[in-house]
Amino acid sequence: MKLIRIQLLVLFSAVLMFNCGGKEEKKKEVFSYEKTNSQAENVSNSDDANVANVVITGNDLMQFSTKEIKVKTGQKVRLTLRHVGKLDANIMGHNFVLLKNGVDLVTFATAAAIERDNKYLPKDSQDIIAHTDLIGGGQVTTIEFDAPEPGTYEFLCSFPGHYAMMRGNFIVE
Ligand code: ZN
Repeated sequence: MKLIRIQLLVLFSAVLMFNCGGKEEKKKEVFSYEKTNSQAENVSNSDDANVANVVITGNDLMQFSTKEIKVKTGQKVRLTLRHVGKLDANIMGHNFVLLKNGVDLVTFATAAAIERDNKYLPKDSQDIIAHTDLIGGGQVTTIEFDAPEPGTYEFLCSFPGHYAMMRGNFIVE
């Protein structure tokens, strides 16, 4: 129920901001949960509660739009990564990689950085819970996976050097 209230609050805030000066676009780039259906009255639909719609953006300044994502265990996570920059994937590629507990992020990122032919992911890696494709400016990619057991996991962009800024916590409650 707490999640649903947050969704409503975010929606309401967005509407308020839009009415007050058209800053809705900026607001939307900030990480947010989005409902499966666009109508607010469907918020209590039990199907929606089982799906955490996560939207995260990456830009040409090597930044994710959030450093923290929260979902609930048992939920299906529908995660959309949107590259809001203009640079090509060869120069400023972004992906979203969620690491298993206990995996050292720097060690993983260092191993990933040399895997250019494999889109900067170690081949047959056992360290990953889920990952998106590597995308460039203007591109969007969506993945679905089951939220793992409760805990705090780390995510990063595994493009060489990006992990220094593009990383955060994926919290499963
Ligand atoms: Zn990146």
